[in-house]
Amino acid sequence: MVSIDTSGIDELIEARPMEFECHSCHETNSRALGWMRKRHETHCDSCGELIVLGTADLRAQMRNTERLLRALSEQLTQQLSHSRANWAR
Ligand SMILES: [Zn+2]
Repeated sequence: MVSIDTSGIDELIEARPMEFECHSCHETNSRALGWMRKRHETHCDSCGELIVLGTADLRAQMRNTERLLRALSEQLTQQLSHSRANWAR
């Protein structure tokens, strides 16, 4: 069995940018997932309006992004293990 180091996936997920729209000026703001997890609110880059990060919508979006990235990482890991096993023949 070929083992692949996947310890970097958590850092990748934490660094993944999440986008959300300002309810005041409708500009799109972007913050790292890990950063958003530790905060309850932020200010719009464009107009400075307070943006609440703890809404159900945003939390669901964060969970979905994390789930997608983990599924992708598992797929890649499986494919890499498979190719390496073939090369080793
Ligand atoms: Zn704004």
